Amino acid sequence: MSDLRPDTIYKYNGTQEFLQENMSYPYSEIGTDGYDVEDILCQHPINEDPVEAGDFPNNIKEHFWSHEGTSDEETWSSCGQLENGAYFFFTANCCYTGFDVSGSMSLYVSPSWHTIVNFCMDEDTYNQYVKECSESKMCSSCDNETALIGEHCKECFWENEDEFRQDPKWQFEHVFSKLTHEYGKSREEANKIANHLICF
Ligand SMILES: [Zn+2]
Repeated sequence: MSDLRPDTIYKYNGTQEFLQENMSYPYSEIGTDGYDVEDILCQHPINEDPVEAGDFPNNIKEHFWSHEGTSDEETWSSCGQLENGAYFFFTANCCYTGFDVSGSMSLYVSPSWHTIVNFCMDEDTYNQYVKECSESKMCSSCDNETALIGEHCKECFWENEDEFRQDPKWQFEHVFSKLTHEYGKSREEANKIANHLICF
């Protein structure tokens, strides 16, 4: 094997609560029919001392990163460390209706982070993980760590967009167009962020 990935642990610049919240839907389904921890636990090709997955996700000590998915479209992913010291990588996706109709989950657990990043994470997820952890998630005005619109948190964004903040019907469109035109987000991503942040 050449081209092994470095053992670097990248960490997303956000709070543990935010990282947990991203995963709240699939995590809440673990333990329901077909999604017991033993059902979703995957083997990897490396022989090493077995470690307990325990009552995942209740035994997560720290998330390094998580990515919120959407039904029928995008995969939920998370990685981090358990209370027993083992590292984990988790992914989940489901059909439009939800996990109770059709879905799949995979949980990898290993005493070695090297094993997780090299033999459990697929290339697309690994690249997404490294990229999202390398990008700043701090508001450039107030240094809050939160979901951003471009480079500002929601509060600071509207401070700077005074003419729009009074008029909710323009807010979604304005945020969407900022994200796609000025910050280079895809339409899908911009739609998701704007939906997440604008409450009518
Ligand atoms: Zn701010």
